[in-house]
Amino acid sequence: MIIGIPKEIKNNENRVALTPAGTLALTRSGHTVLVETMAGAGSGFSDKEYQEAGAALTSGKEVFAKAQLIVKVKEYLEREYVYLREDQMVFTYLHIANNEPFAKALIQSKTTAIAYETVTQQNTLPLLTPMSEVAGRMAVQIGAWMLQKANGGGGILLGGVPGVMPADVVIIGGGMVGLNAAKIASGLGANVQVFDINAQRMAYIDDISKGTIHTIFNNEYNLRQALKSADLVIGAVLIPGGKAPKIVTKDMVQSMKPGSAIVDVAIDQGGCIETSDHVTTHDDPIFERYGVLHYSVANMPGAVPRTSTIALSNATLPYIQKLADKGLEALKQDPGFLAGLNTYRGFYTCKAVADALNGEY
Ligand code: NAD
Repeated sequence: MIIGIPKEIKNNENRVALTPAGTLALTRSGHTVLVETMAGAGSGFSDKEYQEAGAALTSGKEVFAKAQLIVKVKEYLEREYVYLREDQMVFTYLHIANNEPFAKALIQSKTTAIAYETVTQQNTLPLLTPMSEVAGRMAVQIGAWMLQKANGGGGILLGGVPGVMPADVVIIGGGMVGLNAAKIASGLGANVQVFDINAQRMAYIDDISKGTIHTIFNNEYNLRQALKSADLVIGAVLIPGGKAPKIVTKDMVQSMKPGSAIVDVAIDQGGCIETSDHVTTHDDPIFERYGVLHYSVANMPGAVPRTSTIALSNATLPYIQKLADKGLEALKQDPGFLAGLNTYRGFYTCKAVADALNGEY
């Protein structure tokens, strides 16, 4: 099969859909990989590395024109819609439920579009996981930076030093983001509390951390107590398919110490902190409300494109390989992979997406 890897054109998007390592695996099994010139540059992969892995370097136009399967990171932007066509498969983060123009372009062009975010595996979302791991780990290093005096914070070192108490880190939501944040914060020596409502999940965190990460049942009373002494709060709640609930209210933020910091990772679903009232960008990520610093960037992994690209490619490669080897048969053989199919022959094929767009299913 001919697989095309275009360069991402979204603002500040430096990830690429396939690494040279992934390219080598596909070319070794007899597939043709077309990579747009400079596609990997933002992630530190040179054209030469792709060529050495067996890829043919070409223009973006050629990639879209010749490939049978286009693999991307982000959705198509309007100027890429002209490339969509019926005899081509597209595999990327689609997020069409709240992107009607792109959804319509996929339906009108009758493209076979498979979304990373709806592929499932034993009740997990394996192609979302790597980005949650990245964002969770990043949240702590960003929080540590915000707590430094010169950056507007209270001048606190997360791990403390002998004779001085470490910082209190409160993580709300102990899922993929929350657990990764907890591991890093705990590793730095901070006092970490994870608030969740899922008893099984809390038992798991307690087990694997051997009690070094404290889990607390999330309710208003418990959370209010913890926030008063928190130095860093990380918002990591997810209601699958829904908007994030505002778990930390304005008056709870007002009760926090001046110079403390909040990283609202759930901002891509609207945020779980009432005062993180807007999405920020990597160019201008931090703002202040009631003396508390807030960080609310919706595409955190974009700041570490090399790590993110490799993590994403590790997760997507087995699926790309199956699509390349077997075409649509690969979806028929794996219900979890089939759950990724969002549009086919001019119809929506994912119920949640069809419902969100009032489209024909
Ligand atoms: P997840 O499903 O693995 O974890 C969510 C956790 O929230 C679960 O453990 C769940 O039990 C818990 N939860 C649900 N309701 C709760 C409540 N009322 N109180 C406390 N906990 C509650 O999800 P995840 O992969 O960890 O993602 C978390 C959020 O981070 C999502 O909104 C996701 O989209 C977002 N995210 C953002 C970025 C970014 O760049 N900003 C990157 C990756 C993920």
